[in-house]
Amino acid sequence: MAENQIRLSRRRIILGMTFVLTAGLLIGFFAHSLTTPARISEDFTTQSLGDMRSEILSELDFAVETAEKAGTYECCVEPPCRICLVEEGSCDCREKLAAGEDICEECEDRLAGG
Ligand SMILES: [Zn+2]
Repeated sequence: MAENQIRLSRRRIILGMTFVLTAGLLIGFFAHSLTTPARISEDFTTQSLGDMRSEILSELDFAVETAEKAGTYECCVEPPCRICLVEEGSCDCREKLAAGEDICEECEDRLAGG
């Protein structure tokens, strides 16, 4: 009887410890996801502003290239504009230019020699 009770209380301690550990891990995880903005790596947040800019521009150019390959980025200048990707996710400046319609500011500036 007494041995049974000891076994029972040991089980409770183990269960309790497991619960505390799990709760701690969950709290830690949520606290971390609250303090770290979603989808921004720690590598990014710890670098200088200049390095952040370079990384963003490289990623933007990569996304533009990907959109070009997918056929959703038809720009009128080379290298293609970046602003259409940021604002629209696609570019149809080439078509608009051919039709005499307004193109994006970046393309407009670059075609004007800016
Ligand atoms: Zn454009």
